[in-house]
Amino acid sequence: MSYVKILAAIGLILQTEFVVNIMGVSKLDSSKKILIIEDEKNLARFLDLELSHEGYETKVEGNGRAGLDLALKEDWDVILLDLMLPDLNGFEVCRRVRKEKSTPIIMVTAKDSVLDRVAGLDDGADDYLVKPFAIEELLARLRALIRRSDMERQSRASQQKQIVFRDLIIEPQTRTVIRGNEIIQLSKRESSLLMILVENANTVVARDELLRQVWGYNEQVATNVVDVYVRYLRNKIDRPNRRSYIQTVRGTGYVMHS
Ligand code: CA
Repeated sequence: MSYVKILAAIGLILQTEFVVNIMGVSKLDSSKKILIIEDEKNLARFLDLELSHEGYETKVEGNGRAGLDLALKEDWDVILLDLMLPDLNGFEVCRRVRKEKSTPIIMVTAKDSVLDRVAGLDDGADDYLVKPFAIEELLARLRALIRRSDMERQSRASQQKQIVFRDLIIEPQTRTVIRGNEIIQLSKRESSLLMILVENANTVVARDELLRQVWGYNEQVATNVVDVYVRYLRNKIDRPNRRSYIQTVRGTGYVMHS
C-alpha cells in the first residue's frame, strides 16, 4: 500500500496538531460536512478517520453514481472527489454537480498530468490533490476552501440584505434608498456613510471615524469632507421641512436615531 508511508507520518502530524490545538492556534471547523467520494477502501477509511478527528462531519461513498446522488441530495461544505470511480468517473460527477450546485469540490486523483489538472478545474473543481498526499496538505486546502466559501456566502448574504430603518428601506448592493414611492439613488460614498450611521444607530460616530471608514484616511485631514457628504445625503433622503434623519453632534460627529 502506498499509504503506509503516509500512515507512518500521521503519528507525527497528529502530535503536532494536538499541540497546536491545545495552544488554541488552530481553530477546528467542527460543524462542517464533508462528502468523501472514494472507492479505495483504505484511503477512504483513512480520510474518514482523519477528518472526523479534526471535527468534520463526514460521509464516505465508494461509487460515482451513488456519490453524485448524495452530493445533490444533501448540502455539503466540501466534496472530496476521486477521479477513477466505478459507474461514473470524477469528471462526470463534478460536471453534474456543477449544473445544480456550487459546493466546493477538491478533486483527488492518482493521475498526475497537466492535462488532468486542467480538465479537473475546467469541470468546476475548486482544487486538485495528487495521490499520495500528506494529510496536512489536504487539511490546509480544506480550511482554505471552507474559509473562502464562507466569506463568499457572507458577502452574498450582506449584499442581498435589505435594511429597514424607520421609514427608509436601504439596499446597499444597489445603493438605493426607498422612501415611500420614491427610489433614491446614492453615490458610493453617500451609501457607505449612510450604512455606517445605520449600523451604529443611536451611537455618535465621530468625524474621524467616518473619514477612516468611508474614505480610508488614517491621518488627520480636513474633516469637512464628511460634513459636505452628510449635507448631500440629507438633501437626498430627508423630507422637506422635517427633522433630518441624521443629527449633528456639535464638535463630535453624527448620529442616526432609530
Ligand atoms: Ca479510484
